Amino acid sequence: SRAKLFDENEKVRVTFKDVAGLEGAKEEVEEIVDFLKNPEKFTKLGGKIPKGALLVGPPGTGKTLLAKAVAGEANVPFFSLSGSDFVEMFVGVGASRVRDLFKNAKDKSPAIIFIDEIDAIGRARGKNNFTGGNDERENTLNQLLTEMDGFGTDTTVIVLAATNRADILDKALMRAGRFDRLIHVDLPELNERKEIFEVHLKPLTLGTDVESEFLAKQTPGFSGADIANVCNEAALVAARKNKTVVEKQDFLDAVDRIIGGLEKKNKLIK
Ligand code: ATP
Repeated sequence: SRAKLFDENEKVRVTFKDVAGLEGAKEEVEEIVDFLKNPEKFTKLGGKIPKGALLVGPPGTGKTLLAKAVAGEANVPFFSLSGSDFVEMFVGVGASRVRDLFKNAKDKSPAIIFIDEIDAIGRARGKNNFTGGNDERENTLNQLLTEMDGFGTDTTVIVLAATNRADILDKALMRAGRFDRLIHVDLPELNERKEIFEVHLKPLTLGTDVESEFLAKQTPGFSGADIANVCNEAALVAARKNKTVVEKQDFLDAVDRIIGGLEKKNKLIK
């Protein structure tokens, strides 16, 4: 069977309501939503719609979620591709995948293209050449640059890309007319963690002792993905005890588990 070229999601249901915190980042992408909804408003005045923005921040902070919410708010299809998919690809496939992705998005324009882990394709050229797989990656990157330069003002396709390593990206990617906007998506502060908890507590049947503020205080350094994990894990802990509601202690047990998991992961990285 043939590997899927990319993911296409015609009907995105994620909206800004699903993205807690990240006020600054949301404000910046709101403009992109406006471009997608009313391109004439900008082009009439001679303005050029931006082609791309780079979402930069640690893993699990909601970059993919935010990109999806842009598509959901603008009610446009969402095409996505992950840079890590390219790591084990056959020669010649990378560039053609990128070409197909852009062709499909242009056909359905206005649309959002999302490239996760763009650093896997967009690392500065001429480095880490010892594995020999570099030519393929360079071809893919060059195709991406060609596509971004290629579409004119008649097609409203906005490319969002995510990375946690903007510092290692090829500078050519950040040139004007490409990913020339940087949007920071940072780890959540106390208040933001509280809001993220509130999003993820909503579907659970909770005991009366569960408070989002308390949970936010127990979880410094946690990402949104970690918090989503805590909520799910807490429900599993409670279920294992045959409880009918998820209580504070279940969350504390879940937090301990997640911290244990994070520590293990950090040890492996060291
Ligand atoms: P990665 O860099 O690892 O791909 P990411 O920044 O793209 O991570 P997401 O995949 O968007 O992170 O987040 C994973 C999950 O964590 C989301 O689907 C959501 O459930 C939860 N999450 C992360 N950030 C938030 C947030 N700000 N509000 C609500 N949920 C969040």
